[in-house]
Amino acid sequence: MFKKIFIFIGFLFITIFVLTKYTDVNPREMLAGIFFVDSLTEKQLKAKSTVRILVVPGHDNEYWGTEFEGVREADLNVELAEYLTNYLRQESLFQVYLLRNRQGYDEDYLAYIKNNKEDIFNFQKENQDLMSALVDSGLIDSDIGFNSNRKSLPEVATRLYGVNKWSNENEMDIVIHVHFNDYPGRYSDGVGKYSGLTIYIPDKQYSNSKVSRSIAESVSEFLGKYSAYSDLKYEKSEGGIKEIQGFIALGAYNTLDSAGLLIEYGYVYEPQFTNSNTRKDVLQEMAWQTYLSILDYFDKSSEKENVILPYEWNSNLRKGINNDEGVLALQFLLAKKGFYPPSGSNLNICPISGSFGNCTLQAVKDFQKEYNISPASGFVGELTREQLNELE
Ligand SMILES: [Zn+2]
Repeated sequence: MFKKIFIFIGFLFITIFVLTKYTDVNPREMLAGIFFVDSLTEKQLKAKSTVRILVVPGHDNEYWGTEFEGVREADLNVELAEYLTNYLRQESLFQVYLLRNRQGYDEDYLAYIKNNKEDIFNFQKENQDLMSALVDSGLIDSDIGFNSNRKSLPEVATRLYGVNKWSNENEMDIVIHVHFNDYPGRYSDGVGKYSGLTIYIPDKQYSNSKVSRSIAESVSEFLGKYSAYSDLKYEKSEGGIKEIQGFIALGAYNTLDSAGLLIEYGYVYEPQFTNSNTRKDVLQEMAWQTYLSILDYFDKSSEKENVILPYEWNSNLRKGINNDEGVLALQFLLAKKGFYPPSGSNLNICPISGSFGNCTLQAVKDFQKEYNISPASGFVGELTREQLNELE
C-alpha cells in the first residue's frame, strides 16, 4: 500500500512540475480532481432504472445520541426513518433499505459488522493513509485529524465505517442519515437557544460531493417550506446545507461512493418535537417532505403535498391552545398559503409546533383580513373555520 502511494505521489509531482512549467492550468486543483474522481454523477444517478437508497437512523440503543425530557434522539431518528422508508417504498423506482428499525439493526448488516471488523479497520486505514499523503503533499486541504498509529477502531466508528463499506459493496446510490441536533454546553434539562435544520454533505474534495449537493438542494427546498434552517453560527449556511470533512457517515477520508446526506432535522428540544400530541404528525410531515424532495429530484411528484392536509376543523381555536393537532394543521395550511410565519418573523422564532401563540395569532389575523372575516381578532371561530375548510 505505502509503496503504491509513494509511486503515485512521485507521479503527481512530475505532473505538477510539467503543468506549472508549460501550461496555465492550476495543477493543484486539477490533480485533486484526478484523484477525487466523481464516484457517481448526477447524470448517472438520474439515468438509473433502479435507485438504491439506504436509510440510516442515527445512533442506536447502546449509543443513543442526545436526549431531552426523556425523549432519546435515537428513538426520534428511527421513527422518522421508518416513515421515510415507507414513503420511499411507494415509488417503484426506489429500492429502499432501512438499516435499523424499532426492533434493532438489520441482521445482514449486524453479521457483516461482526465478521468484518478487521477489513473495516483496514478499509478506513488505507483511505486515511492515502488522504494523509495527499494532504502532506499539499494537494488537499484538510481539517480532519489523522491517526495512523491506531490498531483498531472504537465500536461506534466500526459501525459507521461498516455502513460505508457495506453500502459501497452493495452499490447503494444514496445514503440518508437521519438525526436530531443538539449542541455542547446546553443544560441537560433546559431548552437550548438554537433551532432549525441542517443538511450535512461531504466535503467538496470527496468523490461523492457534487452528487450529494445536488440532492441536498432539493431536500433543502422542500424541508425549508415548513422548517427553519439552523441558526447556530457554525451551521448557518445557504439553504441549511453544510459541507463537512470529518463525518464518518458522509465518507470521512473519502470512504463513501454513494451520495450521502446527514440530515439534522432540528434541535431535539424544539417544541415541535417535545409536544407529545403533535410530534408524530410533525415527524411524518418532515419525512413526507424529504420523500417529495427526492421524488422531485428524479422528476417525479405526488399529488399529496402534505400528510396532515387536507384537514377538517370542527372546533374553535384560540391563543393558548397548545400541543394540539388542529393548531398544527392550521399552521401548516397558513404556511402553505403564505401567512405563516407572519411577515417580519421567521420559522426559527415561529416554528410550526402545534402550539397557538403570538405567531399564530398574527398569522390568523392576516388571514382573516385577506378573506374579509371580521373582526380580524385572531380567534378561529365558525367563519374562519369554514374558510379554512374550503381552502385546502
Ligand atoms: Zn445525532
